[in-house]
Amino acid sequence: MMATRDSREMLGREDRHKDRPRVVIVGGGFGGLRLAQVLEDEPVQVTLVDRRNFHTFQPLLYQVATAMLDPAAIARSLRAILRRQANVEVRLGTVTGVDWAAKLVLLADGTPIAFDTLVLATGAVTSDYGIEGVAEHAFPLKSPEEALRLRHHVLERFERTLADPARIESGELTFSVVGGGPTGVELAGALVELIDNVVRKDFPGLDVDRAHVVLIEATDHLIDPFHPRSRENARHTLESRGVEVRLGTTVEAVTADAVHLAGGAVVPTRTLIWTAGVRANPLADRLGLDQTQGGRIVVEPDLSVPGHPDVFVIGDLAASRDLDGNLHPQMAPLAQQGADHVAAQLRRRRQGLATDRFDYRNKGVMATIGRNAAVAELPNGLRFRGRLAWVMWLALHLQRLVGYRSRFEVLTSWAWNYLTTDRTARLMVGAADEPSTRR
Ligand SMILES: Cc1cc2nc3c(=O)[nH]c(=O)nc-3n(C[C@H](O)[C@H](O)[C@H](O)COP(=O)(O)OP(=O)(O)OC[C@H]3O[C@@H](n4cnc5c(N)ncnc54)[C@H](O)[C@@H]3O)c2cc1C
Repeated sequence: MMATRDSREMLGREDRHKDRPRVVIVGGGFGGLRLAQVLEDEPVQVTLVDRRNFHTFQPLLYQVATAMLDPAAIARSLRAILRRQANVEVRLGTVTGVDWAAKLVLLADGTPIAFDTLVLATGAVTSDYGIEGVAEHAFPLKSPEEALRLRHHVLERFERTLADPARIESGELTFSVVGGGPTGVELAGALVELIDNVVRKDFPGLDVDRAHVVLIEATDHLIDPFHPRSRENARHTLESRGVEVRLGTTVEAVTADAVHLAGGAVVPTRTLIWTAGVRANPLADRLGLDQTQGGRIVVEPDLSVPGHPDVFVIGDLAASRDLDGNLHPQMAPLAQQGADHVAAQLRRRRQGLATDRFDYRNKGVMATIGRNAAVAELPNGLRFRGRLAWVMWLALHLQRLVGYRSRFEVLTSWAWNYLTTDRTARLMVGAADEPSTRR
């Protein structure tokens, strides 16, 4: 087949890029993808390696788990996002190590990828803090697959109880969420709405009033980074919508049909969702680099790795700190600002300038509690709650989604769900590797 003029031009451009310094980015999440995009006009050849062929917008995973959105609305192919960018090559592969002396990234199948500059952005994974039974029996929420598996599991609980109502006594309709951070609050709020607005209509033969959502939090408040008034508002709103909030409650062990709490209380439950914490991606443990609590890689103030000036770490994986020495919060804006910073440092180095300190700018925090209810706080101290905060939350998340198609899909689903009080995504799919004890 004859090459078109466009493809010949593209090939020519790619060949030219091959002589440029090679920047390898590991991880196409918030940090890695942003970095690949902001390097578009820089004189570098970028290789973006990810074990997945797509980017996930994690803040909306809980909506996939509670039947509001389909996963395709919040995950997009990395190749599709980057295909117009001539200096980027996308590689599918799991990075398992780095040969520092030879400056090679090593993939699980043994393939080496050479770099001049390496940027590690593999994010974080769910942490069970070594609590018995969590790894086997709890549902984590870090990927579209996990969200689908949870959705399947939740919907299946109602199907099974309809077939055998006696199952309610053993916790079949008790949905426990562990972790009172923004994700736990969002999930608990979305679950009660799913039960009240959808399950009640879908299962007229079921005593839905006996379904129960419990939110378990070890400290004495919800949504830690927020002002006490916002925390109290979140708790009050959840309770008024039917969530049982158990503060100051520690989980000691989890089994297939119960959660055991400190002090001896036992809550029968067939569904335990674990949003209580994360730790750095285990790749960090294999690199021989210094790590802090939670496995994050120690970095210099400019985000480079001590002793490896050509290696940077960004996002959830990096133990970056503020001027008081406190670790930065593991949030999407941190990863994106880290990406912008690294791009600027590569430019400074080309100009023969010293690198700058990374200066994270807190742009505020938001959490939605459910329909017409959210809390939002700006860095200048302004606080919002209720419907106004909820509209702000919707607008910000729509704007942050990658690409017009995702925004359109999410907006359409939200509008439909809002106007009909229905949920568009109720297919029971994604249970292939559900823990067998829960079947
Ligand atoms: C349920 C949930 C809700 C959240 N809600 C919010 C929110 O509302 N607001 C907010 O600011 N933050 C939120 N966060 C946190 C936010 O998603 C993270 O801080 C952000 O994703 C970190 O970006 P990152 O680039 O460091 O890592 P990630 O975005 O996690 O990306 C890591 C990438 O690395 C890839 N990868 C991992 N290991 C390897 C490997 N060995 N080889 C190759 N590729 C690899 C992964 O496939 C992934 O694409 C939420 C997180 C979760 C889980």
